[in-house]
Parts: sequence; C-alpha cells; structure tokens
Amino acid sequence: MSELFKLGIKEAVEGLEKGDFTSEDIVNSLIKRYEEKNGEIGAYLTFDAEGALEAARLNPKAVPIAVKDLINVKGQPCTCASKILKGYVSPYDATVISNMKANGFIPAGRVNMDEFAMGSSTENSALGVTRNPFDLTRVPGGSSGGSAAAVGADMCIAALGTDTGGSIRQPASFCNCVGVKPSYGRVSRYGVTAFASSLDQVGPMTKSVEDAAILLKALAGVDPKDGTSSDAQVPDYPSLIKGASMKGVKIGIAKEYFNVTGMDEEVKRITDEAIKKCEEAGAELHEVSLPHTEYAMAVYYIIAPAEASANLARFDGVRYGHRSELAKDVFSLYTKSRAEGFGPEVKRRIIMGTYVLSSGYYDAYFGRAQKVRTLIKRDFDEVFTKVDALITPCAPTPAFKIGDLQDPLTMYLNDLFTIPSSLAGVCACAVPAGFTTAGLPVGVQFISGALCEDRLLSISKAFEDISK
Ligand code: GLN
Repeated sequence: MSELFKLGIKEAVEGLEKGDFTSEDIVNSLIKRYEEKNGEIGAYLTFDAEGALEAARLNPKAVPIAVKDLINVKGQPCTCASKILKGYVSPYDATVISNMKANGFIPAGRVNMDEFAMGSSTENSALGVTRNPFDLTRVPGGSSGGSAAAVGADMCIAALGTDTGGSIRQPASFCNCVGVKPSYGRVSRYGVTAFASSLDQVGPMTKSVEDAAILLKALAGVDPKDGTSSDAQVPDYPSLIKGASMKGVKIGIAKEYFNVTGMDEEVKRITDEAIKKCEEAGAELHEVSLPHTEYAMAVYYIIAPAEASANLARFDGVRYGHRSELAKDVFSLYTKSRAEGFGPEVKRRIIMGTYVLSSGYYDAYFGRAQKVRTLIKRDFDEVFTKVDALITPCAPTPAFKIGDLQDPLTMYLNDLFTIPSSLAGVCACAVPAGFTTAGLPVGVQFISGALCEDRLLSISKAFEDISK
C-alpha cells in the first residue's frame, strides 16, 4: 500500500476496481514521493496536493496523471516553463484534459519542459533544472523532460508529453519510458500551447505499452475545436494489442538511420540487439530506404521556427503573463515584455522563423521547405506499402551531461531520428530496449503509417514482451 507511486495505469485501474485502494491513497503516495524526490530530480514545477486530493475524493476510482506545463488545465498554472507566462492561470481545460477526466483520469501536477517545448534537454526551462533519475548529472532529455523524469523516477503513474520533432520519444528513451507520438490529427491540440501547429501532438509517456494504449485511447478523437483533428474512429487500442506477436510482422530497417556520424557505439549495439530479437521472435526484416531523410533537419528548422514565430506573437505583454514595468508606450510594451520574458532559444527561433517567412526569402526557404516536406512524407507512404513498421534508434546517444551541449546545432542533431516521422505526420513509439554499461537507458523507436496506432502499439507491445 505504501508504494502505490510505483503503479502503472493498468495496475492502478485494477486495484481501484477491486477496492484494494482509492484514488486518494494513490495521490497521498505521490505527494510523499514528491516530497522525497522532487528536490533532487526537479520533475515537477508545481504539485497542487490539495487540488489533487479533492479531485481524488470526488472520483475515488480516478488515476492521477502528471501534465506537461504547456497543456491548459482549468485553475492551474500553465507557464510553458517561460518567464513570460509567470502568474498565468488557465481559465479552461484543453480537450485532452476534458477527455482524460471523462475517462477516469485526473490531472495532478505540472511537469517541467524546455521553454515553449523548444529543446532536447529541458535545460531551456526558465524555471528550474530537471535531472535524469538514472544519473543525476545528466539531462532527462526534452522537451518533455519533466514528464519523462517523473515516469522514470516513479514520481507519477503516467504523464502527458507533447512532441513536435521528438519531444516525447527522445526523453522517453533517456528515462526508460514508453512514449507515443500519435499521428498528426489523432489527438486534439485545442488548449495545448502551440509551438509548430502543423507538427504538435500530445501523447502518453508511461511505464508500459499497455498503459500507453489505455491513455492514448482516452486522449484521442475528433474535436470540433481543432479543425486538424481526424474524424477516423478511435480503435480500442488496449484490447487490440492483447496477444500481440512479432510473428510475420514486416519490419523495415532504413539505411539512413544507421551508420550515422556521431552515433554512440552502445546505442548502436542495443539497437542491433533489438533488431535481432525481433527477427528471432518471427519478424521479417526488410532493408528499405527513405531517400529524403538527409533534408529533414533543414526542413524542420525552417518550418518549426516559422510556425513558432507566428504562434508566439500572441505573447505581447498585453494579454497573458509578464508585462514589462519599463514600458512607456505600446511599442515598448511589446518589445520590452518580450525581451524580458523569452529565453535565448525561444528568441533564436522567433528570429529564424521571421527571417524565413520574410518577403524576398519566403519562397527560397519556407516555400521550398514545404515542398521537400512533401517528398519526405512520400518516402514514408512508399515504405509503408512494403513494411508494417520501421525500427530505428530514438536518439544518436544516451542521456548527455547537464551543460555538455552548448552549441545549438549539436543539440538539434539529437532529433535526427525523430524529426522525419514528425514531418510526415505518421505515428511513432519509443520503447525501452536496454541499458548502457554505465546504466543509462536506451530506447528504440518503431514508426508506423498515419493513423496506424493499433499496429504501432501491437508491434511495440510484442517488442516489450521479448525484450524483458
Ligand atoms: N528538440 C526539438 C526542438 O527543439 C523538438 C522539440 C519538440 O518536439 N517539441 O524543436
């Protein structure tokens, strides 16, 4: 009873159903865990113990879920780990939150992230450091680093993250969790602070693939408040993945994702072993190619900043959060509030985005990037006529040391393996695959076609079963 914080969603639901414990017991256990561990790990920005206990009393069978600090929950702060949103309290629930509540989950605690989800280490948070629970001198990954650290350190039952170019999958790999980036449109973006609207998706970060299936089912579905949400029916993922097996599954090995410079030897070894396990369990391996992969980074770092520069225009000192005290007129109100409120990486993206959208450069950069994005998407369409899923590393390295990657470009390279599938809008899942000799977790990534989460989760579950 005292270690309820260790539970995953499935076990929590089963215990609640049987009456072994109540939601309040789980929340109390999490509060204790928070008090013991948060000083060291820094996964949470805030944990509203009173609010969580009250919600648990109202719904004694509810499962608490940690929420990345850019998803709006009515009555809770939503800072996006930025100084510019200091003091902001959400007046409404994001659709993912109302969906969660309707399915027996309660939002409990705000977890840290890179400011506005821009980054790969959570070091861009303006509000505090988050440490990797497997080695406190290392980063948890990012931008959903607080979510991953909370799951990896058993400081929550499960968490919500968001992924624009890898922000669920890379931290999941660094912290030994399962992380699903749903297909674009599978999950509503309403109430989720926008970074790059054509890429952003909310997804589950959990202790098992089954938990991810349960939580994704609760999150997903069409939403009249998000015109890009898909009206395709949401399959019953948890029952569809029961009895999942690797037998006869066609797995693609894309040559562009291997033999990459800067790839860590141990990541390579663990990925090779994972592939071998799939084959031994009956999967058919196919060598495939996604020839436009080499352009994905360049395309992403045009499209994502372009969209961010437009989305972040709303933080102007007038409507939300921070307002400069030095403002003398409306122009200086905008410029000073933004100069004081945004951190260096966010400013870098806004400047890059504004540049690639500016007249004279629009066609050369943004227009071209859109065309190449289509080619990247076609590569995936083509590959998924031949295979059920691709297997790739999640990131080229395991978790790196806090402070080690000072150069933005080196940091960007962390997302080499996650960005192409984001641009293509397909779904992908990070699954724990092993540990380095130094004890750092390493995940592999499975990628499947758009709206093929049922297949993706089945294959991921089959892998989880054989890799234990
Ligand atoms: N690390 C990537 C970036 O900084 C991806 C971030 C994300 O997926 N939110 O843009």
